[in-house]
Amino acid sequence: MKIAIVGGSIAGLAAALTLRCLGHDVTIFERTAAGMRGHGGGVAILRHMMRFLEQHGHATRKTLAVPVEWRRWLASDGSLIEEGREIVPFSSWDSVYRSLSEMLPVDVVRYGEAVTKVRNFKHRVEIEINGRETVSADLLVAADGAGSRIRATLFPDYRSSYAGYAAWRGVVEETQLPAHLVAELDNGITLLRERGALFMTFPIPGLNGAIESGERRFNWLWYRNEPDVAALSRYLTDREGHRHHASVSPGGLSVEATAYLLDCAREKLPPVLQQLMKHTQAPFIQAIFDALSPSFAVGRVALIGDAACTVRPHTASGTSKAADDAITLAQSLSGLNAAHHIEAALGTWAMERRTKLGPLIARGKQLAQSFGLGAITQ
Ligand SMILES: Cc1cc2nc3c(=O)[nH]c(=O)nc-3n(C[C@H](O)[C@H](O)[C@H](O)COP(=O)(O)OP(=O)(O)OC[C@H]3O[C@@H](n4cnc5c(N)ncnc54)[C@H](O)[C@@H]3O)c2cc1C
Repeated sequence: MKIAIVGGSIAGLAAALTLRCLGHDVTIFERTAAGMRGHGGGVAILRHMMRFLEQHGHATRKTLAVPVEWRRWLASDGSLIEEGREIVPFSSWDSVYRSLSEMLPVDVVRYGEAVTKVRNFKHRVEIEINGRETVSADLLVAADGAGSRIRATLFPDYRSSYAGYAAWRGVVEETQLPAHLVAELDNGITLLRERGALFMTFPIPGLNGAIESGERRFNWLWYRNEPDVAALSRYLTDREGHRHHASVSPGGLSVEATAYLLDCAREKLPPVLQQLMKHTQAPFIQAIFDALSPSFAVGRVALIGDAACTVRPHTASGTSKAADDAITLAQSLSGLNAAHHIEAALGTWAMERRTKLGPLIARGKQLAQSFGLGAITQ
């Protein structure tokens, strides 16, 4: 089949790999220009994505993740409350993205090509690119992320919902940090919990993927309740005055948002974490949204990754979920070609997949609640 994928991030690349394994002719349309990627932060890579990367390519836990041994909880004065073993591999969005990209021929991804319209016909799908070119495909995979326009086109009455908190984030080159700070934060994930907020930091690979000391980066995330939607709206308005729906990229935070973040840090964080933040050149923000598409398939359009379902980040399962979407979608199409009843196969896949994600969504909300994040449900 001729398959078009919209979105060349983790879910889109993973689906291109599995669908190409079945022999399909796959093209990814990614709106970002080539070479403009690479500003994602740290990610924990759970088992399913790690296995996916190992099976499709050469990446392994040893090459992708910075080894860490400890999970440390700090008190607000910086003293150690508790220390235990940590087993989760910590890597970066860039490393996962690069590993997936390297497994695909370069011409599979068409960069700088935004899909501006989708038309679902009886046995084919038509997409419009950059408002000009029209491409016809036997199947369209929407991997266009949490704010999916394709989901909005298919389900105009559906809206994702703000979870009541945001992640303030940053990444710092290890070489930019004083040696004593690196020593304090090294070899573990360091966490601090306060009312309505959770701070965490861990080492991640350098932008080039290096995991050796001296070449790594330190990633931090500070989840903070923000029940005031007017304030959130201001933080999501970048320095050029452009209001974003859910996130402002590194370098884009307004003067007001940056000042607010630094004020909060001065007030709430111990010196070691304040210093980490002070050395961060381009902090960014991602508001946390819940989204579950009313269906994961309509006609010959399938939704995967965050476009289908956005789970709370505390489950650290977003990339693994994307890998599972890609695998199960390909399995559901195995042995079929464009002449077959693709819609029925997609419908069954969509229903099973959506049902399967129920417990994960609930787990994410439970974890948030246990940290006092977001709206408290009884
Ligand atoms: C704060 C936070 C922390 C997280 N931590 C973790 C973690 O530790 N572990 C983990 O596994 N996951 C984590 N995640 C989730 C993870 O990042 C995502 O689930 C994962 O990256 C899958 O994303 P995706 O490919 O579905 O969508 P995205 O990465 O959002 O990609 C969508 C792509 O589609 C493109 N696009 C959009 N519209 C169009 C269009 N019209 N035309 C062409 N292209 C288009 C975009 O440019 C983008 O490249 C975290 C998420 C957040 C917010």
